[in-house]
Amino acid sequence: MTIINPATEEIIQEIGEDTEASVQEKYRKVRAGQAAWAALSVSARIDVIARFYEALDVEKDVLAATLTAETGKPLQQSYNELNGARSRIQWFLDHSARWLAEEWVTAAGATREKIVYEPLGVIANISAWNYPYLVGVNVFIPALIGGNGVLYKPSEYSTLTGLHIQRLLYRSGVPENVFQAVIGKGMAGEWLLQQPLDGYFFTGSYRTGRHIAEKVASRLVPCQLELGGKDPLYVMDDVEDVDKVAAAALEGVVYNNGQSCCAVERIYVQEGVYDAFVSSYVQQLKKMVIGDPLDPATEIGPLSRPAQLEFLLGQVEDAVGKGGKLLYGGQRIDRKGYFIAPAVVVDVHHGMKLMMDESFGPVVGIQKVKDDAEAVGLMADTEYGLTAAVYSRSFERAEQVMKQLNTGTVYWNCCDRVSAGLPWSGRKHSGLGSTLSYQGIRAFVQPKAYHIRG
Ligand code: NAD
Repeated sequence: MTIINPATEEIIQEIGEDTEASVQEKYRKVRAGQAAWAALSVSARIDVIARFYEALDVEKDVLAATLTAETGKPLQQSYNELNGARSRIQWFLDHSARWLAEEWVTAAGATREKIVYEPLGVIANISAWNYPYLVGVNVFIPALIGGNGVLYKPSEYSTLTGLHIQRLLYRSGVPENVFQAVIGKGMAGEWLLQQPLDGYFFTGSYRTGRHIAEKVASRLVPCQLELGGKDPLYVMDDVEDVDKVAAAALEGVVYNNGQSCCAVERIYVQEGVYDAFVSSYVQQLKKMVIGDPLDPATEIGPLSRPAQLEFLLGQVEDAVGKGGKLLYGGQRIDRKGYFIAPAVVVDVHHGMKLMMDESFGPVVGIQKVKDDAEAVGLMADTEYGLTAAVYSRSFERAEQVMKQLNTGTVYWNCCDRVSAGLPWSGRKHSGLGSTLSYQGIRAFVQPKAYHIRG
């Protein structure tokens, strides 16, 4: 497998992929090692993960450089991701013991009753490339703390990062027969699905997620999916500072070059502030620095792969062909690497791909709406259900909108954020099940009910 730097199109490294036989061998190895890991106390496993938390900091320069080289993420954002991953790990270190402890339901009397949380066993963690530390940590950290063995498949676009994660977990004390990285593309994932695992945890696109869910359905084990989104942001006409809201929306659209599951993908603005919002958004976008992701001044780097560039240009072309007005960007930037000028399209409607299909890039349509009812109708008109944001002076007014939306997360006066203490879950085509929060600890264990008489 060839690892390519998306900013330069140069080959970083050639790397051997797993084969069907090697995936099977890794499965056997972890199956054999998991029971001993599960037999350790929760606090012993937490101590191991605490060393991994430290290792991420000690090696942050090399980790950030690798992440930027293979994904094109601006260097500062690679450091941000590492810091974000560490604070999520810290949350798991602080909270896991409480949620994994046995619970006495009836502590006295003739029949006592308690719940004990046991690991699922050996699980697959099939992961995405866009935030490999963050989305990986959501799964393999609580899985390991819960006593599971993990077969971790990093995306083929963040393989070197996946190998760093494996190396640092081993160095921290996770045994090799408890955690194994499976290296390769979709086929390596398929071989992983063929193993009789005790749970399948996937982060990636709806298309692959649905395929995995269908494939493993008959095994009747947990299958959890964190998928894409088409997340809306609505600006009400009572906002205090339009420039500030435009800045927040812009960051929500272009951070990580829009390659975030919860990126802002469509914007609705109420008539009274529409013109001011659009002009502020475009002006601020024009000032953003696009370029070499290793340059500390760079805010927007390349896309991760060439196919994505063509896909986004196609969405913009479709919108313009159907009457959309391109106010800025939407073209390939003439330099080496997969660079696109972030696009802003107005006069958009829901007959356009730009407003309906996940973009996963720095392109956005901005649509004018009359009132909250029209905004709710448009925001809800999607197959996805990850997040939705409302900007308004009034929480009560915003809440009326947020209550009506079928999404796992809602934001008032913020967007594109994830918190370790809150469940991260998509509805409809955005996923199944939750990571993070106490639910994301319990997702990797199963309850055993004890009835104790005498
Ligand atoms: P993807 O679906 O292309 O790939 C994800 C993983 O699945 C990769 O490791 C890939 O090798 C593997 N895979 C591909 N085909 C497979 C198969 N047939 N069997 C088993 N595994 C297979 O997604 P991607 O491009 O890596 O990530 C982008 C998508 O992920 C976007 O839709 C984004 O919104 C979503 N995402 C969601 C979240 C979330 O938390 N909800 C987080 C990050 C990314």
